[in-house]
Amino acid sequence: MMFKGVLQLNIRPQIDIESLLKMYDFDRIAIATLASHSSLQIFHGAKLEGFKTIAIIKEDRLWFYRQFSHLIDRFIIVNNWRDVCNSNIVHEIHTLNGIMVPHGSYIEYLGIDCAENLQIPVFGLRSLFRIEYDQWMKMELLKRAGIPVPKIYRINDNIDTPVIVKFHGAKGGRGYYVTKSKDEIMDYVRHMIKEGVIRGINEVIIQEYLIGVTAYYHYFYSPIFNRVEILGADIRYESDIDGIKRIPHKILVEMDIKPTFTVVGNIPLVLRESLLPKILEYGIKFVEESKRTLPPGVIGPFCLESIIDKDMNIKVFEFSGRIVAGTNIYIWGSPYSYLYWSEPMSMGRRIAREIKLAINTSAIRKILT
Ligand code: AMP
Repeated sequence: MMFKGVLQLNIRPQIDIESLLKMYDFDRIAIATLASHSSLQIFHGAKLEGFKTIAIIKEDRLWFYRQFSHLIDRFIIVNNWRDVCNSNIVHEIHTLNGIMVPHGSYIEYLGIDCAENLQIPVFGLRSLFRIEYDQWMKMELLKRAGIPVPKIYRINDNIDTPVIVKFHGAKGGRGYYVTKSKDEIMDYVRHMIKEGVIRGINEVIIQEYLIGVTAYYHYFYSPIFNRVEILGADIRYESDIDGIKRIPHKILVEMDIKPTFTVVGNIPLVLRESLLPKILEYGIKFVEESKRTLPPGVIGPFCLESIIDKDMNIKVFEFSGRIVAGTNIYIWGSPYSYLYWSEPMSMGRRIAREIKLAINTSAIRKILT
């Protein structure tokens, strides 16, 4: 009932990929990304597969990324991330035959309009960007895929369980709020509006607060092999929710501590093997739904973010359509990626491998949007 007919998911960014690709020399492709998030992994993987690399970078980070200049062939310096959309930068990337690999910070840095309309071929599904940006559309896509999700409330619904209040474009779980009280939700929303974080209640989503353990699955969908691979899994280490167990219960209650969810790092996770079929099934469902709703569908890395309860039920509360930072754990491959590839295969390298396979089989159009 929540989603009935209210959301349009068939987003079509204004990009003429065929004309763009006519400018490219596929024997000289370079892999470009913003120097942040998982870029070192992306560059490292690109180099292993024999590609040139381009780091788009802000001046203040240059000294740091220069430590890795053996992984980076060209630095393109920008004053602001959004300058990437300026025609001179776009032109420079074209002349270098640059393909953009978007990562988890990509939309946050470029802004949704620049990210969507950037006139550079993107490895990934461009039309997913706007969906990812919007908490409501995200949950709608998961639901349509037939993946179990937490109950979602509107402010006027009867709220009878603990809920987590989230808002659009939140950075790494910062500022989420857990409560059972509708009054507290309203106070919190007013506070966020006053702080300029959101403009109104429509930018807020209220989800059932799931009890269990968090697990984040790193998938790769290969249009070349038409298969979904599970390349790894991680747990996000979040402050202070993951530290709360270190506080004696009595003090926790006395101080009325409200947990926060700021990501500070990632911890590797190997799952019970009996959970893997369900996890792969959800990954496949996600890809199939994306093909129906947003053709041609997901390309390359994506992540489903879940809670597993004591009965081994998995509910997915969020997804990312790009490479997530949890993959940085596995720069030399994970126990799962090794099963597919029998060689060290990070997500960054897997991206480059897919690009190489697409070039070698004249199927480049399958992987770029
Ligand atoms: P997100 O920004 O959606 O990835 O959420 C940030 C963090 O909030 C997650 O890593 C979880 O620890 C927590 N979280 C998000 N949604 C839920 C939920 N529905 N139930 C319990 N915890 C959640």
